[in-house]
Amino acid sequence: MDAKRCHLFELVYYCASCNCNPIAIHDQVYSRLYKGAEGRGYLFRSAFNVTKGPLEERQFTTGLFTVSTIACCRCNQYLGWHYVRHLSNQKKKEV
Ligand SMILES: [Zn+2]
Repeated sequence: MDAKRCHLFELVYYCASCNCNPIAIHDQVYSRLYKGAEGRGYLFRSAFNVTKGPLEERQFTTGLFTVSTIACCRCNQYLGWHYVRHLSNQKKKEV
């Protein structure tokens, strides 16, 4: 994703495919160094101008999460996923 300066927000992220659809603001970026199975990615707390796919469960290093895939609402480019909730995964360790 490309980051561009914008008058309204300090930094706005645009879809890298159509390059004219703002999808998130910098304040909402949770991590830009995220490494997942699909390669490097961005973690956003929230995004806009996107369409969300069906919910699915994915196992991450931090636990099991329910996520939904998101795509650009203009060009339909797959952008990543959105965390919906963290599933309880707190088994007591057996010693
Ligand atoms: Zn797009």
